[in-house]
Parts: sequence; C-alpha cells; structure tokens
Amino acid sequence: MALLTNAPRGTQDVLPSQSGRWKYLEKTAMETAALFGFREIRTPVFEHTELFTRSVGDTTDVVQKEMYTFQDKGNRSITLRPEGTAGVVRAAMQNGLLGDALPVMASYVVSCFRYEKPQAGRLREFHQFGIEMLGAAAPSADAQVIAVANEIFRVLGVEGIRLELNSIGCPTCRAAYHKKLVEYFSAYKDKLCETCLGRLEKNPMRILDCKSPECQEIAKGAPKIIDYICDDCREHFEGVKTRLNAMGIDFVVNPTIVRGLDYYTRTVFEFVSENIGAQGTVCGGGRYDGLIGMLGGKETPALGFAMGLERLLLLMEKTGAQFPEEPACDIYIASMGEAASVKACQLAMQLREEGFFAQCDSMSRSLKAQMKYADKIGARYTLVLGDNELETGVAKLKNMATSQQIDVKFEEGGVLTAIYENDQNDTIEQIAESFGDLPLKNLL
Ligand code: ATP
Ligand code: MG
Repeated sequence: MALLTNAPRGTQDVLPSQSGRWKYLEKTAMETAALFGFREIRTPVFEHTELFTRSVGDTTDVVQKEMYTFQDKGNRSITLRPEGTAGVVRAAMQNGLLGDALPVMASYVVSCFRYEKPQAGRLREFHQFGIEMLGAAAPSADAQVIAVANEIFRVLGVEGIRLELNSIGCPTCRAAYHKKLVEYFSAYKDKLCETCLGRLEKNPMRILDCKSPECQEIAKGAPKIIDYICDDCREHFEGVKTRLNAMGIDFVVNPTIVRGLDYYTRTVFEFVSENIGAQGTVCGGGRYDGLIGMLGGKETPALGFAMGLERLLLLMEKTGAQFPEEPACDIYIASMGEAASVKACQLAMQLREEGFFAQCDSMSRSLKAQMKYADKIGARYTLVLGDNELETGVAKLKNMATSQQIDVKFEEGGVLTAIYENDQNDTIEQIAESFGDLPLKNLL
C-alpha cells in the first residue's frame, strides 16, 4: 500500500495549486532566452548510456554515482538524462545543425534524473531550464549566454543571487596545472576520500568539486587554475569580463569554481545564493569547446548553462518574490433542480465561449453548499438559477466582493446580455463599475 501511494524518494508532485508558478518560471525563462535568439529544442528523456559517460565524463559524480541506467528489452544500456546538454549536442550532430547557420541556439525545459541523497534543493527527479549555443568561440558568446541567465533572474525579480565566474583554461594550459594539483593533493593521500584518490590519477581537478567536507577543506589550499591559464585563455576571459561590464552585469571572480561536469573549458560560471541552504547553486554553466570533438564531430566551440528550477522556485519563495495571480473563476452559476442544472451547464458553456472562466455545479449539491463552494474557489460573480428564474428568464447576479446584486436577463443570446432590473436603485455607472467586466454590454 505504501508503495502505491508514495512517490519514489526524491521525486516531487507539482499540484494544481503550484503549477502556475512553474509555468510562470518556464515561460519567463523561455521568452527571455527567445529575445536573444534561442528557440526551444526537445530531445528524448533517455539516451544511450555511452552518450553521458563520454560527454559528462566518467570521473564525475554524475557518471560514477548518480545515473539511472538500465538495460531495455533489446539489451541496450539506456540512461535517463542526468542533464540537458549531452542530448542537445547529440541532436544537433545527428540532425546536421552544425553544418547549417551557426551558432545553433537552443533552449529547453527538461526533467533530469540523478540518484542522489534527497534533501532541500536536491532531488532524484528535478527540472532544468537551459540554453546551449553551438559553434560560437568569441568572448561575446560567453557574455551573452551569461546575460540570458542574468536577465531571467532580473525579470523574475530574484533577489540575493550572485554571479561567480572563473576560467578553467584549455587542455593546453590545464596540463601544467594538473601536474601542480597532483603534487599538492599527493601530500594528502591519507585524508582524501576514496573517490578522490581515484581522481588523483585520472582527473585531479575533480577533487576541487568533491562534496566531502574533508576534501573540500584540503582543496582550499590547492593551486588555482586561474594562475596557470595561457595567454589566449586569459585574453578570452578578459573579453568576457569586459562585455559583462558593458552590459551592466555584476560578477565576482571565484577561482575555486570548476563545475561538476568534465566537458567544460575556459569560462565557467555559477549563480549562487546564500538564501536556500547548502544547495545554493541555482544556475551553472560554461564553455565546453571539447565536447563535440569528443563525441566524434568536427571540433566545434560551444557553451551553455542549466538552471535548477526547484532551487530557483525555492529561492523566489524564500525571498518573497512576486508571482502572477492565478486566474480566478469569473462566474459561478448555481442551480436548483434538474432543469436549472441543464440551463447552468448551457450558460456556463456560452460564457466560456466568450472567454470567461465559468463553473457550475457538478456535484448535485444544495444551493447553500454551492454558494459555499463558489466562495471557496474565489468566484468573482455568482448567478443563481431555479425554476422561477427559468420561467422569467431573469436571475440574480451577485458581485461576491461587494455583495451587490442585480437582476440580469439571461435568455437573450443565451448569455447575460442585459440588465433587466436594478433593485437597489444604483446608477447605471455604478452598476457598470461593479459588473462591467461581465458581458452586460446591452446596458451600456
Ligand atoms: P551540485 O553541485 O549542487 O550537485 P551540479 O554541479 O551537480 O550541482 P549541474 O550538473 O551543473 O549541477 O546542474 C545545473 C543545475 O541543476 C544546478 O546548479 C542545480 O541548480 C540543478 N541541480 C543539479 N542537481 C540537482 C538535483 N539533484 N536536484 C535539484 N537540482 C539540481
Ligand atoms: Mg551534483
């Protein structure tokens, strides 16, 4: 029973009362990216496992510990996507986009799957908004990709978020740096975690990204990549910073950022907040010039970012950001008796055709219960139909906020087209003000 009614650990339902916020985030992100030229791409939820082991990198936490991998019935190894980039790059290569107009500019909202220890801001199924720009090598590309994320946060009114930037160089300048790192970490062999001992051989930079507190403490004293990057990489980094400044985007250089995935080169960045606990990175991204070549394509510079939507929502809720109001029910049509119920169905339908949000009884409840329900859902107006109303074609329309009531004629054209009688002797202007957004146009 418990299995039936409990979702798997680390997953989350988005209930009807919450989904409006999600739609708002997704829409704002997509529309903001579209202003820069990014258009939506949709790729499969699962890919061949090899795509991720090759691109994300087999010394990363994601590949070593976190992937949802299984054999399908055809005995292929399949993995639920742990991130969005690999699939997008695969799709661009497969569909020949890289031979077409460059840069390829794609945006997405995807669910991602990682077998992690669930906690606030860390789930096993989570959602990312992301963009990828393929084929662009210039510093201007980095600056604009960063600007998309920055602009999304600005438009959403996100407070307390900081852009941290670093350059992790290219394979050329990294070779010298790796040597220094191995030298440094070798002195701590007895203190590093098991995973990091393996990384020391294969990919020492990964140690800088280890989540274990002991390794993090040791990593604090490690040599910094930024001190070892080559002239080309340094010039590129300066170019990015100049453009961020020109666009008025604040940032700090944080030499400890290396990012969790293997494919990054040169620019890496994170948008970080102190307001949402330990999982403070809301958005992470950077340049991955080596990835496409690594997947067997022609060497192609590329970059992008991914934003964790659960963390973004958490941050917005914690810092009191504004969300748009959910549309309230315009009119609830209450009814008493079979004939009135049929009429209520019909009227509600006709109002919806006019673009109104209309509801009527679907529970055969008493009038009192119906009115209680109308109040509960925040209906702005109610209309009450009974045998008497059906006979006369006139019913009471109530403004729920002001309790003001007027008689309306509902037969004409089926819709509430005319006010029949005003029992409170209000002026037409007063009535128009109170009921003006319902189709009572004949009055005016
Ligand atoms: P972290 O260091 O927090 O594990 P990461 O480096 O693994 O993050 P990325 O692979 O860069 O994360 O993913 C980009 C963004 O996706 C993160 O900055 C975060 O906002 C979000 N994210 C990553 N993993 C999770 C998760 N398990 N649950 C919720 N959001 C996540
Ligand atoms: Mg992670």
